[in-house]
Amino acid sequence: MSEPSAVITREMVAVEGVRRTYGRGRTATQALRGVSFAVQPGQLVALRGRSGSGKTTLLNIVGGLDRPDAGRVQVAGRDVTAMSEHERMALRRTSVAFIFQSFGLIPILSAAENVGVPLRIAGTPAKEREERVSLMLDIVGLREHARQRPGELSGGQQQRVAIARALAGSPQLLLADEPTGQLDSETSKQIMRLLRAVVQSEGVTALVATHDPNLIDIADSVLQLEDGKIQDHLFRTGRGARPAPLRAARGPRRAAARVPGRPRRLREVTNAALCTEIGMQCNVHYLAGPGR
Ligand code: ADP
Ligand code: MG
Repeated sequence: MSEPSAVITREMVAVEGVRRTYGRGRTATQALRGVSFAVQPGQLVALRGRSGSGKTTLLNIVGGLDRPDAGRVQVAGRDVTAMSEHERMALRRTSVAFIFQSFGLIPILSAAENVGVPLRIAGTPAKEREERVSLMLDIVGLREHARQRPGELSGGQQQRVAIARALAGSPQLLLADEPTGQLDSETSKQIMRLLRAVVQSEGVTALVATHDPNLIDIADSVLQLEDGKIQDHLFRTGRGARPAPLRAARGPRRAAARVPGRPRRLREVTNAALCTEIGMQCNVHYLAGPGR
């Protein structure tokens, strides 16, 4: 059997001429001033830039949480900028997952229940859900901590739960906003390596806003954002045990969720980060795990 001679890949993320201004008149802030770049499937891309350079704004627009004033964003070939609010929420439930600096876990749920939240929302049958949750906890090395609540876990462990949760629904694109911002440097290194590993093992594409040199060292490419503009997009070339130096690319290298049944026990949980991730309006009445 011969391999196909050519594999046609579609860019996972294509951003063209994106502008976003907050406010109006003299107090207006131009957060993004004509941003264009592309990310190929399976790539781990670090988005670097000083505080205020527009990283969060850009991630929010790529993930469909916010809309640009001008320009176009495609994710997996679908035009996010042309979608209705409803379609963007569906996109966040099925194809895009977020990871935040503050972890965004639900304090009253165990690690396993937190990981299972997106699957519950998607109506995944219980058995399949349990299997997927244990696989995800295994991948992030937390099998022994499945029953612990976030408050009983370290910061690094909490972020690992958040990574497991983000991956549970098999998204195509992972967006992480300074995921190691609250972690010490050794833990940060572990988290970034874990991200590197899951991008490979889960075949996901990741765009990670960070200042963290631990990620810059292992990313496939580094997008440098300055004052709302892409200053550089450097690609790692070559293979080998050690990370190759980053280089500017030459030429064209630039390259239905079911509504869940009525919960057995309903608790009111307000968790903005989680709401965002699972594509629900915030301040929702949200279902906590059964039997507690
Ligand atoms: P970063 O994540 O790189 O720190 P942000 O995307 O948060 O940058 O912010 C980019 C610029 O937009 C900053 O000048 C910031 O003050 C401004 N900004 C961000 N969010 C808002 C908002 N909701 N209202 C007004 N200005 C904002
Ligand atoms: Mg930010």
